[in-house]
Amino acid sequence: MATAQDSYLNLVSHPVAREIAGRFGLPRPAVLRRYRPGEPLLPGPVLVLGGSGADALAGPLPDLGLQIRRQAAHGERLGAIVAVLDEVAGPADLAASALAVGAALRELAPGGRIVTVSRQACETLPPAAAAARQGVEGLLRSLARELRGGATGNGILLGDGVDVDAPGVTGALRFLLSARSAYVDGQFLLVGSTDGQPAAEPERPLAGHTAVVTGAARGIGAAIAEVLRRDGADVVVVDVPAAGEQLAAVANRIGGTALQLDITRPDAGARIIEQAGRHGRIDIVVHNAGITRDKLLANMDAERWDAVLEVNLAAPLRLNEALLASNLLGPAPRIVCLASTSGIAGNRGQTNYAASKAGIIGMVRSSAPLLAARGGTINAVAPGFIETEMTARMPAAARQVARRLLPSLQQGGLPRDVAEAVAFLSGGAAAGINGQTLRVCGQSLVGA
Ligand code: NAD
Repeated sequence: MATAQDSYLNLVSHPVAREIAGRFGLPRPAVLRRYRPGEPLLPGPVLVLGGSGADALAGPLPDLGLQIRRQAAHGERLGAIVAVLDEVAGPADLAASALAVGAALRELAPGGRIVTVSRQACETLPPAAAAARQGVEGLLRSLARELRGGATGNGILLGDGVDVDAPGVTGALRFLLSARSAYVDGQFLLVGSTDGQPAAEPERPLAGHTAVVTGAARGIGAAIAEVLRRDGADVVVVDVPAAGEQLAAVANRIGGTALQLDITRPDAGARIIEQAGRHGRIDIVVHNAGITRDKLLANMDAERWDAVLEVNLAAPLRLNEALLASNLLGPAPRIVCLASTSGIAGNRGQTNYAASKAGIIGMVRSSAPLLAARGGTINAVAPGFIETEMTARMPAAARQVARRLLPSLQQGGLPRDVAEAVAFLSGGAAAGINGQTLRVCGQSLVGA
């Protein structure tokens, strides 16, 4: 597979090269802590800061195998700091929590985690309360940019009527603390309902579920298929006939089923339903297939525009309609769509692609109530710069610059980083998360 390699990152992983890079003021990206079965959730105990909300949040954490501290002990390396700020009612309430996190930061281990838990700011609040709640987002996103050594900072937002001990909060916290979220940085997950339950088999949370992944012959799609399989799902992998050989290799590797299909065909929905239906029902659908046809808008032609909008947006819209109309969706269906940071921030030369990916974000938001009515969810994952054949096509210099400009992690993500986020959103622990877009971007907005 011609996936781009980050040779600079490989080089500075060596202690001598690392020291030389430091002496010359060159970036020294850390090797990120990534999931390995059987490893502890965190590289040390978790410090939980806050009032009564922190007590409630800390309650279930020992069940996750975590050691809890309610106060920092000088010299003890912390795996994570969780700051519960659910009671902030005005700007003055931010200082104590912010400074307490700051005072403990030096004890955070490499690959450690900061997670804030706070309430969503909404229009119906008094301005001071809304200001303070929104303030948490600025605090966390900036703090995430100050972390080094592969540590990340993310937040959980509590929706109306959701308390810190809701199952969805524990599920989101577990994901954000774990090595599965290695490349998720500076992001917020809104837990909007009290739905959700811990997986019966935590190492195989998707056991007994059937998943369909489009564009799975290579890159991010192949990684998604592998991670869903690792987590216990039966996987149907879909890709164009021209990628049939690679698709068969992925299917063989994971013991899945290959379906050669161009998702833009009018009968694509019927073909997927027929194939996946042989497994009894469809629990998870991942709309991953995507293409780029970059051109400045002044040079854009209808062929490039239409191809991108058709594969990336029109086909998933049609497939969702077909799926929702079928009687094969399981009792808690999960749809996860691949958006892109280009669809959030825009990207020169990508008007067609960014329109399609922003369209995905709109589609997800508007489809959320439809899925909720079926006991399910639909969410998007927006990758930033991920090392795949898609980004390998960028000019080499632009690729190196893009990697090093990433705020604190200073490297591109790997396909499996995106796959871990997709797998999390596909599981029961994420039942309270609906209609959202989670960026997997090392806190940058550069990508394909
Ligand atoms: P990729 O080009 O490596 O793989 C995409 C796969 O989709 C290919 O196997 C291709 O054959 C398949 N495909 C294309 N058109 C299809 C069709 N009509 N029917 C069925 N399959 C089709 O891309 P990737 O980098 O792995 O990206 C996967 C997804 O992630 C895409 O939606 C992409 O837009 C998105 N994304 C990627 C990045 C990145 O940095 N690589 C960043 C943001 C978003």
